[in-house]
Amino acid sequence: MFDIKDDVVIITGSSRGIGKAIAIQMARAGAKVVISSRKEEACQTVADDLKKEGLQAISIPCHVGDKEQLKNLVQKTLDEWGKIDTLICNAATNPTYGPLSELTDSAFEKIIQVNVQSSIWLSNLVAPHMIKNKKGSIILMSSITALLGSEVIGAYGISKAAEAALVRNLATELGPKGIRVNAIAPGLIKTEFSRALWEDPDYLKKQETATPLRRMGLPEEIAGVAHFLSSRASSFMTGQLLVADGGETIL
Ligand code: NAP
Repeated sequence: MFDIKDDVVIITGSSRGIGKAIAIQMARAGAKVVISSRKEEACQTVADDLKKEGLQAISIPCHVGDKEQLKNLVQKTLDEWGKIDTLICNAATNPTYGPLSELTDSAFEKIIQVNVQSSIWLSNLVAPHMIKNKKGSIILMSSITALLGSEVIGAYGISKAAEAALVRNLATELGPKGIRVNAIAPGLIKTEFSRALWEDPDYLKKQETATPLRRMGLPEEIAGVAHFLSSRASSFMTGQLLVADGGETIL
């Protein structure tokens, strides 16, 4: 059920953090993974490390906010491996911290373009190839901020809620063609992205107390969810937002 051997998987933002953990998990499960982020060298290092383990990986750098670079990502993947089984839209940005009353138009536009519009662009570029193959899973990396309010990362939360809405719409459109679309909503995960939060001892203590499992998560703990959503084990699931947050949102 969890067999993904030789599946071709594109993972945006896979040079570090959650995306890299997903790439390692899926490559070790036998998939052919495409490592992608803005920085060529960082992607190549991850791909080389996987290849040293005898695994299948290539590096195709891409800024997800640039449509031409997304087209190149899809074309180069097809040139190399001829198909795409799973697309994981994981890269995201959060250039602002503070109340919505101070949010600039340019910061909001950037958040929406990188976190939401890029996923629409990339899904639309990849879906025709999945449809041709009669097989495909698209996974968007949302967040529990999609479900909560915040005084400081509200715009980011709006973009993550939009991703949860996006999977319902893409799932509706692509379901009849055999393509499943789901999102993952992690809680606090220990990566560069969230460093400012978990490096603050007061914040971390409050966070841990407010989480039933009493700790933050690790990137590897999201990788298993992505593996599940890409595999036959989740074959009757589409349009869903899967929460993996140590229980934070149940309190
Ligand atoms: P991270 O460790 O900072 O990694 C982000 C990755 O995305 C890097 O590979 C980065 O590489 C790449 N990236 C950033 N901007 C990009 C762009 N415009 N185009 C292409 N690649 C880009 O972050 P993370 O914590 O793993 O976050 C991954 C996803 O999880 C995001 O969608 C985030 O919203 C979500 N998430 C994270 C947490 C958390 O607590 N960490 C919680 C909930 C949801 P380059 O710099 O080389 O481009």
